[in-house]
Amino acid sequence: MHQLDDCIFCQIANGHAPAYKIHEDELTCTFLDIFPATPGHCLIITKEHFSDIFEAKAEALAQVARNSVLITKALEQVIAPDGLGVYQFNRACAGQTVFHYHMHLIPQFEGKNIGIHSKQAGDPDELAALAEQLKSVLP
Ligand code: 5GP
Ligand code: ZN
Repeated sequence: MHQLDDCIFCQIANGHAPAYKIHEDELTCTFLDIFPATPGHCLIITKEHFSDIFEAKAEALAQVARNSVLITKALEQVIAPDGLGVYQFNRACAGQTVFHYHMHLIPQFEGKNIGIHSKQAGDPDELAALAEQLKSVLP
């Protein structure tokens, strides 16, 4: 599988960098965003390094889409948001900042207008506890 040594999401996918992982399978890995826009902000990535949708393989993206349903159900149980934003950016001019394909799942709440990117890092203890809760409701 094609991965890059200097890509942070490749390092998370292959276990060389830490992350609050909540799910993985042969093609994808899901973990909490370290700068959560809201509690439960998840990223689903392909394990293979594709910079963006322009170079990604359809099979891997299909698995990301499949797992987005699974992760949504876990977020529904653990976070119970009023809604969920699903976002995916490709290339800098579209807002992408980490150039390894990923999908954002961002819980949304009535009356709160939340952006996609947070400037504040999540609290490590809260992220760890949340990751455990989400893992416990995932197959
Ligand atoms: P993009 O703008 O590329 O769609 O989003 C990249 C996301 O990755 C941002 O929400 C950012 O907070 C998150 N992020 C960047 N570096 C790391 C990291 O090392 N670990 C985790 N868990 N998230 C990261
Ligand atoms: Zn990568």
